[in-house]
Amino acid sequence: MIPKYRIRCVGGGEAVEDISLLSCPHGHDSLLRTEYCTRKLHLAPHTGIYRYLTWLPVNTPLLPSGGPVTFTSNELSRELGLSNLTLSFSGYFPEIGAGLTTGSFKELEASPTMQRLQELGNAIPVIASAGNTGRAFAELSARCRRPVVIVIPEKAVHRLWTTEPAPEVFLVTVRGDYSDAIAVSNKLAAVPGCVPEGGARNIARRDGMGTVMLDAAVTNGRIPDHYFQAVGSGTGAIAAWEAAMRLIGDGGYGNRLPRLHLAQNLPFTPMVSAWEAGRREILPADDMPDATENIGKVMSDVLTNRNPPYGIRGGLFDALQETNGRMYGVPNPAGADAMRLAEETVGIDLDPAAAVATASLVQAVEKDFIGPDDHILLNLTGGGYERIREDFVLHQVPPVTTVTTDEPAEQITGILREWIAHHG
Ligand SMILES: *Cc1c(COP(=O)(O)O)cnc(C)c1O
Repeated sequence: MIPKYRIRCVGGGEAVEDISLLSCPHGHDSLLRTEYCTRKLHLAPHTGIYRYLTWLPVNTPLLPSGGPVTFTSNELSRELGLSNLTLSFSGYFPEIGAGLTTGSFKELEASPTMQRLQELGNAIPVIASAGNTGRAFAELSARCRRPVVIVIPEKAVHRLWTTEPAPEVFLVTVRGDYSDAIAVSNKLAAVPGCVPEGGARNIARRDGMGTVMLDAAVTNGRIPDHYFQAVGSGTGAIAAWEAAMRLIGDGGYGNRLPRLHLAQNLPFTPMVSAWEAGRREILPADDMPDATENIGKVMSDVLTNRNPPYGIRGGLFDALQETNGRMYGVPNPAGADAMRLAEETVGIDLDPAAAVATASLVQAVEKDFIGPDDHILLNLTGGGYERIREDFVLHQVPPVTTVTTDEPAEQITGILREWIAHHG
């Protein structure tokens, strides 16, 4: 049988034999990228993201599945004076067919990641998260009864709910911040039977998020001129760029990459700062001074990643350079205005990150960075939480244990080994 895809190191250009790897075996500081044998995008007869099974690195869909919804809003288009504004929504809003019950586009990543791991031999993914990613994996675990290990900062535990009980989740809360959660997750991922989920390095995660661009292009019959999104790690934006390259390869959707317009939330904007200085490296002293204090001030904390895949080959710097991209810093008041605008025009309670993205589009219109008739795709990456609370009974995921960062690793890895013996 001809394999469905290969993976290739973007930096070195070489094909990588072992498709389970997360980084280049030859040491290039680079993302690995999927190369699908089918250059034409055939639509599969499945729901949600699995309509795009051709360009997902799994053989079998994990059903039922939600997906991004592409739609338009006459009210918002009129308000912004844009004649070709397309919205993509990844969240919960049954009126338009949006059925992601975790409320964010992290669900687009979690589903193919879980499915791919099962197909590659059933390793248990270990995920460090500030909240939304952890919730997406917890929900998927509940839905398909497969074990996952999730590590989150203790103060994010209120975000770990699911719409059905999730007995296969090994949840660890950490007395510390997201970076501390990552440190603990690295220890747990070394336990036999577990693997690090990989974040931006995970091709299933990026290709799952790429379905936003695919769905918009299929709906409109073309690649948009401009793509707007709020970024924390930049993984979603890298995915949009990669999906657009595949669409150009298909030949039926145009031959121009969309220009990436990416937003962060002031006063924590490391990638905006580095990009505007023309630098591939993020310099903490210049690009994120007073990081802890400034992270505490933003309205959207999912946008506050301190170590994004920015400089790495195939990462966000390359994506911006290749697409002649722009970055935007959005202050909280502008985000709050955009939140109200979306509520009044589209009728959805947006995730704060999606409001930041909407605010960057408002900024681009005011500064004439885009033309009134340009084809624009605005990625609304999350929302609908009010409706989720109305329509579902939410189950809080209980932590198995809470750790401090100076605790010895043996204790917690021991608990995990025992848990795997019962659940693996
Ligand atoms: C994580 C997240 C983002 C940022 O996505 P990245 O891929 O990390 O850049 C934006 N919006 C929402 C709702 C998110 O959960």
